[in-house]
Amino acid sequence: MRRIFLIYILFFSCVEIAAAKATDDRQQNIQIRLFSSNNISSINFFHVSGAYAVFGDSLKLFNADDLSFITLTLSGDSVLIQKPNFKNIYHTIKFISQSPSSTFKIKPLQPDYKPRTYDDDLQVSAAGKSLFLLNKVDIEKYTAGVIQWEVGTSNPEEFNKVKAIVIRTYALGNWRRHEDEGFQLCDDVHCQVFRGKTFSQNLHHAALETSEYILVDDSVRIVTAAFHSNCGGQTMNSEDVWSKAVSSLRSVNDTFCLHKTNAVWQKKIPKDLWLDYLKTKYGYPVNDSAEVKKVLNFDQPSRMVYLVNNDFYIPLKFVREDMKLKSTFFNIKDEGENVVFTGKGFGHGVGLCQEGAMRMGEKGYSYTKIINYYYTDIHLIRFSQLDFFKAE
Ligand SMILES: [Zn+2]
Ligand SMILES: [Zn+2]
Repeated sequence: MRRIFLIYILFFSCVEIAAAKATDDRQQNIQIRLFSSNNISSINFFHVSGAYAVFGDSLKLFNADDLSFITLTLSGDSVLIQKPNFKNIYHTIKFISQSPSSTFKIKPLQPDYKPRTYDDDLQVSAAGKSLFLLNKVDIEKYTAGVIQWEVGTSNPEEFNKVKAIVIRTYALGNWRRHEDEGFQLCDDVHCQVFRGKTFSQNLHHAALETSEYILVDDSVRIVTAAFHSNCGGQTMNSEDVWSKAVSSLRSVNDTFCLHKTNAVWQKKIPKDLWLDYLKTKYGYPVNDSAEVKKVLNFDQPSRMVYLVNNDFYIPLKFVREDMKLKSTFFNIKDEGENVVFTGKGFGHGVGLCQEGAMRMGEKGYSYTKIINYYYTDIHLIRFSQLDFFKAE
C-alpha cells in the first residue's frame, strides 16, 4: 500500500495538472527543453493556431494571435523581446496558450536551423550562453510526437499504441533526469527525440487510445521499458547486458522479427586485426593454436554472454562495441585472410523487439498481447486508476 501511495505522489508531483482551461480541465503537462543540444541565442516565435497571451516576467504584454512574428534574443542573463513597436528585456518570457489547440513555431536564427512546430505553452529565459526554451506540453501530444521521431508515421496501429505506452512509461520513469537544470526531459537522444508536434492523426489516435497508460511491475513500480530494433530471434536477459536483473526484462524467443529489415547482417574483419585486438585487450594467447581455434570459429545457436568464458572472460557486448557490430548474436568463421561475423538482429536485445512488435501489429495482435509478449510480469495502469488503488 505504501508503494502505491508513493507512485501516487510521484505522479502528481511530476505531471502538472494545469489550471482549468475552457474546454479541457484535466490537461497533464510535461516540461521539455527544446533545442537542448544546440546553443541557440536568437529565435523567431510565430503563432500558428489558437492564441497566446505573452508575459514578460509577471506582466501581461500583449496577445500573439496574428501573422506577425516575435524575435527573442539572449541578452546577458535576460531575454530581449522585439516586435514592431515593442522592445524590452525580461528574465522570463511566457507564451501561454489560450485554447487546447494552440500551436506555435520556433525558427532559430542564431545558429540558423529549420523551424519546428509545437503545441501548448513556451517559456523562454537564459541559461548560460543559450536561450532556455521550455515547452510545457500535454503528455499525450508529446507522446504522439515522439512516436513520429522514433519510428515514423506508417506503422500498424497496434504497434503505434505499444510505442505510445513505452514512450509514456519512459517519460514518467525519468522525469527527474534533468531536475537540477530546471526541466523534466530534453528533446534529444539522451532522453527521447522530440523535434516538434506530429501532424499524423494516426499517432494522436494511438496516444489517446492508450491515454495515461504506463507499465508497472508487480510492486507497482514504473518499469524500464527497454527496446531495440531487432532481437534476431531471441531477446536478452537484462543482467547479461547491463548487469542488473530486472523481472520485466527476461529473454524470450521471437519468430516475428526473423524476416524484417534488420534480421541478419555480416561483417568481414582482417584476421590479424581480430587476433591483435584479443591479444591487446584480453591478453589472449594468439600463438596457442588450440586457443586460437575457439575465436576463429565460433557458433552461437542461442544467445550467449561470452565469446570465451574460461580464464579470459571476453564478453560479447564488448566485442560488439569494439568491432562496431550490429548485435552480440553472431557466429564467427575463419576464411583465410579474414574472419567473417554472421549475425542476427540489431541493438542490445533487451526488452521490446521493435521489428517483431511491428510484425505482430501487421498480423493483427492487440497492443496488450504485444506488450505482454516482450515484457514479463508487467501491468498496464492508468494514472487515474492510482487514485482507486490508493483508496483500497
Ligand atoms: Zn535528456
Ligand atoms: Zn525479435
